[in-house]
Amino acid sequence: MLELRGKKVSDGIKEYVSKELETLTFVPKLAIVRVGENPDDMSYERGATKKLKSFGLDVASYVFPQDISDEDFKKAFKDINEDDEVTGILLLRPLPRTINEKDIENMIDPKKDLDGISPINIAKVFAGDTTGFSPCTAEAVIEVLKAYDIELTGKRVTVVGRSMVVGKPVSMLLLKENATVTMTHTRTVDLKKTCSDAEIVITAAGRAKMLNSDYCGQDAVMIDVGINVDENGKLCGDVDYATLDGKASAATPVPGGVGTITTAVLAKHLIQAAKMR
Ligand code: NDP
Repeated sequence: MLELRGKKVSDGIKEYVSKELETLTFVPKLAIVRVGENPDDMSYERGATKKLKSFGLDVASYVFPQDISDEDFKKAFKDINEDDEVTGILLLRPLPRTINEKDIENMIDPKKDLDGISPINIAKVFAGDTTGFSPCTAEAVIEVLKAYDIELTGKRVTVVGRSMVVGKPVSMLLLKENATVTMTHTRTVDLKKTCSDAEIVITAAGRAKMLNSDYCGQDAVMIDVGINVDENGKLCGDVDYATLDGKASAATPVPGGVGTITTAVLAKHLIQAAKMR
């Protein structure tokens, strides 16, 4: 079984970023906006900062207290949104319930919305219009498939999960690549069959090792977006990777797979935002 390594894909994106940086007259700056001290957010922020800086890009964190009022946060967010020094924004979510997240999604400048949360960018993803930004993780899935020359046209692809962050946008991006897409969720009847009938499975359920080799067709490709913790406290995906040998033709590991590519896509989007200015 071929291990689809995120690093190879991320290195390819780094090359693109380096070349594009040479054509720009300024270093693009990413604003990471965080409310509160959620350890997952902080870990993602550290990873993204490290990756983008290693790509030669500028990153600044804007951190607000958990109890900030809706009004104060919107004021601060407006300033970041309108700051000419800020090329792109990554908002760590979910926000505390006291802040109206929908309002922020509507406020964010679509040209700075690197993770595709504004209704305009979402609509573009659904319309197959590539002039906007799609959610980085959804695009990371397409990046890994393309980097390893895995054909999508006409392929039966099953997507596990229907969230707005991964499941739905990735399904739309796959459709744009002419795949035949089946979307599944907790109410799907016989998930095992729907997955094992597919030539490619993309899973974003957030359930540790839920999909073993029974969910994998012979020589299928398994792309694991899940980031979970197993019974021993170790990071793992939705796929029980160890069971895939002899069944899958290729699969992404966790860690070291899609997660690694997500922040590289963020860097790519930052370059694209800089070029849009
Ligand atoms: P959500 O919890 O928002 O969505 C999970 C989806 O999976 C839902 O649509 C849910 O169905 C479906 N699902 C859950 N359990 C099952 C099941 N037993 N059978 C079938 N479908 C199921 O999660 P996210 O989309 O935000 O994230 C999914 C995973 O991806 C998480 O592990 C997260 O950590 C990871 N992730 C990784 C990123 C990366 O950079 N690699 C970035 C973002 C997320 P229903 O709608 O019916 O509830």
